[in-house]
Amino acid sequence: MYTDLTGKVAVITGGSKGIGQSIALRFAQEQMKVVINYHSDKAGADKAVDAIKENGGDAVAIQADVSKEEGVNALLKAAEDNFGGMDIWVNNAGMEIKSPTHEVSLEDWKKVLDINLTGVFLGAKAALNYWLPKKQEGSIINMSSVHQQIPWPTFASYATAKGGVKLFTETLAMEYAPQNIRVNNIAPGAINTPINAEKFADPKQYQETQDMIPMAKIGDPEDVANAAVWLASNQSKYVTGETLYVDGGMKLYPAFKDGKG
Ligand code: NAD
Repeated sequence: MYTDLTGKVAVITGGSKGIGQSIALRFAQEQMKVVINYHSDKAGADKAVDAIKENGGDAVAIQADVSKEEGVNALLKAAEDNFGGMDIWVNNAGMEIKSPTHEVSLEDWKKVLDINLTGVFLGAKAALNYWLPKKQEGSIINMSSVHQQIPWPTFASYATAKGGVKLFTETLAMEYAPQNIRVNNIAPGAINTPINAEKFADPKQYQETQDMIPMAKIGDPEDVANAAVWLASNQSKYVTGETLYVDGGMKLYPAFKDGKG
């Protein structure tokens, strides 16, 4: 238990499934109140809200597109209207489009950047504009990826966006440290969520992914949620501008693991 989190209000973007849903459930275990954003999967978000309420917690599901300013503003308003404030903002929503880079349409390129990078900017901007006039401390947690560091052919738009999230996090952390607003980044490796469902349904691709991980196993969304709850809590009160990798060692150049090279 992180007792300082009791009663705190969190907004989680892209919370209807996968990592975002897992963070919502984990935060609720700390007696936090959660705004669960969904884009199209209302049923998934409602399911998470029901699960939280059944366990005595409080949550609300709100539809919004994080790549639109009115979308993130609606999430902030929902936090204020339903729970009377907002303490933690998790920019989790993300998506990827696979394509050789010379074939990527401008439309797809912009879509990936709009959701994965501009969505993080808009969410952070909304949170900052809420906290600053009140002189309130706060914590922003951005969901990046090991691909903020590891190049990923045929996913250039995604890797570019996540690389941007890393430097955005670090810049914001420095800019707002004097106001005690912490900004951190989580970089998951390969996690078992709907984003990977098709790939992991194929035993060959599942095995190939596992072979890229020194710990030789795919991660669970709960592994990421456990990192998020620590970053949200006072236990990490002296941590800002950091990336916490939750990847079973994936970024450690596993091709060298047998002493080759
Ligand atoms: P997921 O597909 O299960 O969930 C992504 C969520 O983002 C969904 O709820 C989706 O509706 C939401 N979303 C997409 N576009 C949106 C928009 N415009 N507005 C609001 N919500 C939107 O995937 P996940 O694995 O849970 O991914 C969560 C985050 O973790 C993403 O940022 C992803 O890039 C990152 N990540 C995942 C992995 C992994 O292996 N699963 C690895 C590294 C990073």
